[in-house]
Amino acid sequence: MVDLMAQYQKIKPEVDKAILNVIENAQFVNGPEVKGFQNELEDYLGVKHVIPCANGTDALQIAMMALGLKPGDEVITPSFTFIATTEVVALLGLKPVFVDVEEDSFCLDPSKLEAAITEKTKAIVPVHLYGQAANLDEIMAIAEKHNIAVIEDNAQAIGSDYRKTDGSTQKVGSIGHVGCTSFFPSKNLGCYGDGGAIFTNDDSLAAQMRQIVNHGQSKRYYHDVVGCNSRLDSIQAAVLRIKLRELDDYIAARRAVADHYDNFFAQFNQITTPKRDIYSKHVFHQYTMKLEGVDRDALNAFLAERDIPSMIYYPVPAHRQKMFEAYGSADTNLPVTDWLTERVLSLPIHTEMDEEQLNHICGGIADFLNQ
Ligand SMILES: *Cc1c(COP(=O)(O)O)cnc(C)c1O
Repeated sequence: MVDLMAQYQKIKPEVDKAILNVIENAQFVNGPEVKGFQNELEDYLGVKHVIPCANGTDALQIAMMALGLKPGDEVITPSFTFIATTEVVALLGLKPVFVDVEEDSFCLDPSKLEAAITEKTKAIVPVHLYGQAANLDEIMAIAEKHNIAVIEDNAQAIGSDYRKTDGSTQKVGSIGHVGCTSFFPSKNLGCYGDGGAIFTNDDSLAAQMRQIVNHGQSKRYYHDVVGCNSRLDSIQAAVLRIKLRELDDYIAARRAVADHYDNFFAQFNQITTPKRDIYSKHVFHQYTMKLEGVDRDALNAFLAERDIPSMIYYPVPAHRQKMFEAYGSADTNLPVTDWLTERVLSLPIHTEMDEEQLNHICGGIADFLNQ
């Protein structure tokens, strides 16, 4: 699905030098590379505070801890997402409340939000799935009206520009009260291990999150709140500084792959190509099509025979996971989520794809559909 080795080859001299530099200076934790990356990401996103942490799942957990959510409080999330979004809700003793998504954006449907809000609702977590944003204008307006915090799960859409009503743009992830991201290797901005970050423009939330990531410490060995240990290590930060400079080019390369797929698949009425740039620029973390009247498993197997990977993100929506059985969430009525789960298929997309690979993939799909 991705080719991290080919991408590394292009930045190898810089990356090798930066990693060696960290080792030679032996500042493995909280070294200058971490601070440097933090500042550069703040500039890139146009956000006041970036708090680096160990991974994207921690980022979500820390955001919820900093907001002071208490056991029993309800958190609204989509069910059509990677499990981490909803898992941390349950882990903190909060109650996940699942809301359906829009068929075109694959993201939280604001028109279904208010029906799910109760006295106990304390946060809404829109997930910017596959690389483009949820309808943040409407989600923020509803959240404001009910005095609910918004935590953006931006693990898949870093670098995407949100189009505001006045025509200006703002980076996705910097619009809610808190934004969270992951630097898992296959993400659009990925490191060479695990990493994550939290963003906010709120000074007091930022101060709390800085404390929480470091054992709730206010000064050394004085612990004011219960926190955790969640750090981005210096080697990962050094890699991320280099890759952040490439991010806009990486996004352009992904969009070019999506253009190729879109053009080729236009001839097949069984394929609905992803609708793009609905609320924000699509950064194509995934290229996810919807299939109609196609045996998806057979297509997946046919492609695998030709060494073409294809994936279902995600085969079981959160509300149908065994993990949430005790919440009775399987009874939630999420028709679009269920409909999409039956029909989506994602194809390889990355920054180093060439014409030959694209032709091989498109040819495989055409052969299957035309047989
Ligand atoms: C990857 C991902 C996460 C979790 O990130 P990790 O760094 O793997 O913990 C959370 N939410 C979404 C939508 C993701 O894609």
